[in-house]
This record gives sequence, structure tokens and C-alpha cells, in this order.
Amino acid sequence: KPVILSGMQPSSDSLHLGNYIGALGNWVTMQDEFDAFYCVVDLHAITVPQDPKELRERTRSTAAQYIAAGIDTDKSTLFIQSHVQAHTQIAWVLNTITGFGEASRMTQFKDKSAKQGADAASVGLFTYPILMAADILAYQANVVPVGEDQRQHLELTRDLAMRFNSRFGETFTIPEGHILKETAKIYDLQTPTAKMSKSAETEAGLLKIMDDPAVTAKKVMRAVTDADGEIRFDRENKPGVANLLTIFSVLSGRSIDDLVNEYAGGGYGGLKKDLAEQVTASFTPIRERTNELLSDPAELDRILGKAADRASEVADATLAKVYDAIGLLPRH
Ligand code: ATP
Ligand code: MG
Repeated sequence: KPVILSGMQPSSDSLHLGNYIGALGNWVTMQDEFDAFYCVVDLHAITVPQDPKELRERTRSTAAQYIAAGIDTDKSTLFIQSHVQAHTQIAWVLNTITGFGEASRMTQFKDKSAKQGADAASVGLFTYPILMAADILAYQANVVPVGEDQRQHLELTRDLAMRFNSRFGETFTIPEGHILKETAKIYDLQTPTAKMSKSAETEAGLLKIMDDPAVTAKKVMRAVTDADGEIRFDRENKPGVANLLTIFSVLSGRSIDDLVNEYAGGGYGGLKKDLAEQVTASFTPIRERTNELLSDPAELDRILGKAADRASEVADATLAKVYDAIGLLPRH
């Protein structure tokens, strides 16, 4: 079976609708056809300031949300990034073949460092895409299902893999991105031109899987729209309404045209009310199952430990090839 790898950062107590639609939902459908590696990328989460106790809780909770959303740990290898040493070891080697200018062009670094102030941003945040490349290449992944925001990082991963192979001999599989066009980017409900993000400054526009249904409903009802009051799909001029229609369409399985036909002529209120119900109906079973899983952390840790053993076997084999290819003297 071809290999897929993907991951999310434990940078919040909850995944959000963008993570669910852009990534996790696809992971669930892809786990049957692929040898799937899904990880919680905790080493990425420390590229911005974090609280140690929260990080530990969020890491477990993120893994639990994967399982609750449908990742089957008998089919897929679900593990914690920091449990597999080879990620950082391969990342170091990739650091040495990445150009400074090349890394400087990554727009996510520009966005995230601008939020923190350029002096506060860490070198870790800067080299983040190189660790991400190592995550992917360690498993010789063929396919990487991610949201649109990761397109540039994936391109860098491919460039680094090709560069390494041409300098040192065939070592890495060149991965393909799997980015679904329509649904690959969900926007913040308060700022519908910015992507929904775990690390958003305010939570008002963020639909979190672990939120109380009442909170979710309130956030949907307060979503920013526009003044003309007309329901139609126009991403450019009506980004708020377009985002709501996209979300509704993906979660309900109905086409956007179908939804526009039904709601055209009514105000935004009716659309929002039904959408709120749709979102809470999708989230509730996941939230409840997550809480169940979190009530037995020892069992969860056991599952993660077993998966880390399997992941390490694969990643260590790649690391050995990498070290050999670049000419490091083996230890005897
Ligand atoms: P952070 O703000 O901490 O970077 P994030 O919300 O961007 O968090 P990540 O953990 O970085 O989430 O990304 C996990 C996965 O979710 C990636 O595949 C990413 O492409 C996808 N993703 C993130 N935000 C969105 C979004 N708004 N729409 C669609 N997919 C998204
Ligand atoms: Mg992100």
C-alpha cells in the first residue's frame, strides 16, 4: 500500500472545523487505501511560546480527537512526533541542504512572526518547515493530505527530497500533496478573509470540536456577513456568506447551489440557525467520544506507545540510509 503521513499541532485544547474539514475528515477516508501514519506534532507546537502542563494535556487530547473522529488505531499508526527520535535527526541533515533565502520565503513564518513581533520569533519557528519535511520524508510518504495553507511547505519538502537524492543518491520518496480544492481552506467566522487557526488571537471566529454546543451556536449566529442581506456564493465580495455556505455544504453533503436555492430570499438568520445545528450535530459525537477516551489516559498512552514503536522502525531505517548517504562514520 502507498504511504500517507499527516499531522496536527497540539497548539490548542481543541481542533477546529478547518482542521476537521481540511485534514482529519480526509484522513479517516484515506486510512483504508493507504498505510497511514498520523501524528501529533508536539515539536512543532513549541515553536511558539507554550505552557508545559497545557502542552502535555493538549497532546493527549489531540490524539483522542483523532480517534474520536474515526482514526482506527488498528489500521493507522497514530503516534506522537517527539516519541520518534529520527524526526529531529533527519531535520538536522535537511537543515544543512536548505538555503537561507529559500527558508526565508515561507509565508507562514512571515505571518506567525509578524504576530509575535520579529524579535520575539524563534529560530525554531523559522526552521519549522524543515522539521515538517523530515516528518514526511522519514516515512517515505507518497501522499500528504493537508489544507491549502501547507501547500508551500509541501513544495519545499519535495524540493529538499529531490535535492538530497540528486546530491547523495536515491534516498527519499518524493511526496505528492493531496489538497482538496473546495474545502481546503475554511475561514475565520469573524475575519472571513483569514484562515481559521488554532492560534487565532480571539476565539469568536473559531469553531472548536470541544466547545459546548451552546458556544458553537453563538459563534455561528454572530458570524460576520455583510450588509446586502442576499444569500449567494461570491467569495470575493461576500466572503463571510461564502464561508458559511462552504461549511454547510461540506458538513451536510448538499451542493452549494442547492443550499442557495433553499435559503435565497430568507435572511442570514435562518441560514445561520440551521448551520449551527449542522455543526453541533457533526461535533457532538466526536466531543463525547474524546471525553470518554480522556477518562482513561493510561490506555491511550499504551496505544500511542505501541504506535511509536512501529513508527520508529520505519523512521530509523530512513535515518540510517540518510546518515550512510551523506558519509557519517557508522558507530561500531
Ligand atoms: P496553528 O494556528 O497552531 O498553526 P492550525 O489551525 O494552522 O494551527 P495545524 O495544526 O497547523 O492547525 O494544521 C493541521 C492541519 O489542518 C493541516 O493539514 C492544515 O493544512 C489544516 N488546516 C489548518 N487550518 C485550516 C483551515 N482553516 N482550513 C482547512 N485546513 C486547515
Ligand atoms: Mg498551522
